[in-house]
Amino acid sequence: MEYLGIEPKKARIGVFDFTCCEGCELQLANKEDSLVDFLALVEVVNFREVSSDRGQDYDIALIEGSISREDEVERLKQIREKAKILVTLGTCACFGGVNSIKNRFDIDDVVSEVYGKNKVETLPVRKVSDIVKVDLAIPGCPVSKSEVERIVVNLVTGAAVNLPKYPVCVECKQKGNTCVVDLGEICLGPVTRAGCDAACPTGKTGCLGCRGAAEDANFDSLREILREKGHSDEAIDERLRFYNAFSEELKNEG
Ligand code: SF4
Ligand code: SF4
Ligand code: SF4
Repeated sequence: MEYLGIEPKKARIGVFDFTCCEGCELQLANKEDSLVDFLALVEVVNFREVSSDRGQDYDIALIEGSISREDEVERLKQIREKAKILVTLGTCACFGGVNSIKNRFDIDDVVSEVYGKNKVETLPVRKVSDIVKVDLAIPGCPVSKSEVERIVVNLVTGAAVNLPKYPVCVECKQKGNTCVVDLGEICLGPVTRAGCDAACPTGKTGCLGCRGAAEDANFDSLREILREKGHSDEAIDERLRFYNAFSEELKNEG
């Protein structure tokens, strides 16, 4: 849109994928109802899923996926050098995500089991912030498309960026859901950051914690309640470790 005959400069965005399923990128690319408005505000210069352009002059880099190869480490560092703002997009990039399950096993055993004699390089999975400075993290598996667009618009316009600090239970109760813990499920809603509109409990499945920890999350109370409901420590820990999204909090717990 022109103002006084001048086209204002749009923020340039690059979207880059690493070890992941590309589901978070797909969320963005799929959003046809708001795509036109979104593209009026930004210029996408590099986004492999939607364009053949490979521009290197981006202001904001959205990083999807965790890091599990040496060439990914180098590519990530190069992107960091070019980007003014680097944002992690999705649970894999923010926490390691489901890929982190591999870190529980002997990597050499896994590689030989899956690939036989074929050589493949695979390192223990790391989150993006283990390697470069991250300016902003947008969690979710996948991310919420409306949340990403709102945050990008805020970044471009200089408005404050806020993620909910309260837990998924708040959104779940607002929706009038029956608590799935009362139906015998393990649900991490009490300790997980809201923002997904309680997607899993609304679908009658317990939260797996893909958005990481809510503010002041009380893991001891969660364990106590779930034990009272008859769940084993092993099952509770398995759920808490699924996305590697609570590793910092659980480490501090001792
Ligand atoms: S966070 Fe989930 S949806 Fe996004 S890339 Fe990782 S596995 Fe896929
Ligand atoms: S179903 Fe999960 S998110 Fe919903 S109220 Fe129960 S514990 Fe909280
Ligand atoms: S309910 Fe939990 S696992 Fe499901 S999308 Fe929300 S934060 Fe992620």
